[in-house]
Amino acid sequence: MIRICDLDFAYPNGPFRLRLPELQLPRGTHAAFIGPSGSGKTTLLFLLGGVLTPRAGHIWAGELEITALEEASRRDFRLRRIGMVFQEFELIEYLTVRDNILLPYRLCRRLRLNGAVVRRAEALAEKVALGDKLDRFVDCLSFGERQRVGLCRALVIEPELVLADEPTAGLDPASKALVVEALLGYARSSGATLVMVTHDGDLLPHFDQVIDLGSFQEAKP
Ligand code: ADP
Ligand code: MG
Repeated sequence: MIRICDLDFAYPNGPFRLRLPELQLPRGTHAAFIGPSGSGKTTLLFLLGGVLTPRAGHIWAGELEITALEEASRRDFRLRRIGMVFQEFELIEYLTVRDNILLPYRLCRRLRLNGAVVRRAEALAEKVALGDKLDRFVDCLSFGERQRVGLCRALVIEPELVLADEPTAGLDPASKALVVEALLGYARSSGATLVMVTHDGDLLPHFDQVIDLGSFQEAKP
């Protein structure tokens, strides 16, 4: 489902370089990206989601080459087909939990908001113990609650690819278990591909592939 070939990425204003000759994740894979801070885990997730584009190389999601798309089509593809859980949540403070979860439907005209979608959003919130907070504004939620809003927003579109950036970082054990179960449960039942960046060694047995980004860093001269 995901294929990377001769990827070469650099930020315009920094020395960081990510080179990845080849990576393949068959559809339905549950993969973990690990590696030290600064090794490019978030960068690679953003490249897979089409948020960033490489200098050279190719990334395919199924039959579609993300790296060949124009910016507007890449954004459309991301909003409709990829569930992204951001390291810093990226929630909208002045919207309620419900409206934050439904945000993809406001941002992408090709996603149709209807009663079934609203019920799905509410069921997801229920699953991660946010059912009683749907009408709250996110600025009065705890860290762990905000993380779970981001998770529901990623899953509400029923994505074929879920990219989750350290979704359990800083969570208490109970919230962590809810988040992991929601992500893995969704991936298992839908057949979606899941890529999770994590520092939690105890989660690694849940994954079919563990990719250490530290091992792709260039040797310093
Ligand atoms: P990780 O998620 O593994 O901690 P990142 O992918 O966030 O690492 O960052 C990899 C490297 O790229 C780091 O050295 C970081 O400082 C650098 N970096 C991240 N974002 C930018 C940016 N927007 N511009 C320049 N350099 C960046
Ligand atoms: Mg990161």
